[in-house]
Amino acid sequence: MPQTGRLSEVMAIGTILEVASARRLVIKIGSALLVEDGNPALVWLNSLADEIADLRTAGAEIIVVSSGAIALGAARLNLPRGGRASLADAQAAASVGQVELAQIWGTALARHDHLSAQMLVTLDDLEERKRYLNAAATLERLLEAGAIPVVNENDSVATEEIRFGDNDRLAARVAQAANADAVLLLSDVDGLYNRDPSHRDAALIERVEGVTPEVIAMAGAGSSSGMGSGGMLAKLQAARIAERAGIALAIINGAYDRPIAKAVAANRGTVFLPVRSDSARKAWLGGRLAPEGVLTVDAGCVTALSEGASLLAAGLTEVEGDFARGALVSLHGPKGERLGQGLVEYSGAECRAIVGLKQAEQEARLGYAPRAAVVHRDHMVRG
Ligand code: GLU
Repeated sequence: MPQTGRLSEVMAIGTILEVASARRLVIKIGSALLVEDGNPALVWLNSLADEIADLRTAGAEIIVVSSGAIALGAARLNLPRGGRASLADAQAAASVGQVELAQIWGTALARHDHLSAQMLVTLDDLEERKRYLNAAATLERLLEAGAIPVVNENDSVATEEIRFGDNDRLAARVAQAANADAVLLLSDVDGLYNRDPSHRDAALIERVEGVTPEVIAMAGAGSSSGMGSGGMLAKLQAARIAERAGIALAIINGAYDRPIAKAVAANRGTVFLPVRSDSARKAWLGGRLAPEGVLTVDAGCVTALSEGASLLAAGLTEVEGDFARGALVSLHGPKGERLGQGLVEYSGAECRAIVGLKQAEQEARLGYAPRAAVVHRDHMVRG
């Protein structure tokens, strides 16, 4: 196996074993697995740390994305509803719990002489290109230096509008920033089922090639724990981010000691194949989560966009939002269907001024020569 280059380029990752054998792997652990009655599940954590150490010995680089700060802190502070009764509670709980979370990971990995590195990120750290590249550089340096990054959202400062809220999507974004080959989401269910898993006809889906609306529809009833905030929908959103970036993602049941070996041996879980590999910048753009406005276009424009054209003002029918030039906007078709997203060349007010206008008509309205497009195809991702 080559020492450099992405494993996924060398070998398509399509099974749980292949995900678990990825050269650079992000492992996400939910609160429901790590916290039991307000205390860390140390026996379980140690068994997972043993597996992480084995993977490191086999030459893999591991990034951990760990939840649990809110659940642990809520127990220490005696806060109701696991610290999720209000945003202020969640922030305070995370602040207390993160100390303990970092400590238990540090201890568990130190048993194998591995050094853990705490990294707390907010949504904006990964939404803004420059900050995203900074976070990517830190991850790279930590891995190069042999540490195991343990990442969580910086919940004590994240507010409702600017937070991931679930670590599933965070894990996919971190994988993208770290140029990882695969993501393993440790859940409290075996994977994605074609219907509510409690139904007797429910069947586990083993492989997903593209998170389509039909796949999303299967996520109705997912995780049962109530302690984390992810659920199956967040996991599918994470899979979408990963597949666009050319990263394989698997959901396995983490509720056993040595959960990775168990899932590999049983070959049980759901693997989402990387369906396409956009350029790194486009994958980052497609994985951004917080559009500031919506541009609706007509049917002709839908066709043009599907053929790879830029979005022109002539095809615009409606503009929602008060955004600045350069903002991320969501693109919708006439029936409200989502077409993709991109960086807009005009402010919201300017977009509204040129709705439906041809290039030649725009100068009079804008007072300056129009730009080549409202959203240029180089700054647009579909889907
Ligand atoms: N970041 C949160 C924590 O550490 C958990 C988010 C989630 O439930 O996915 O408690």
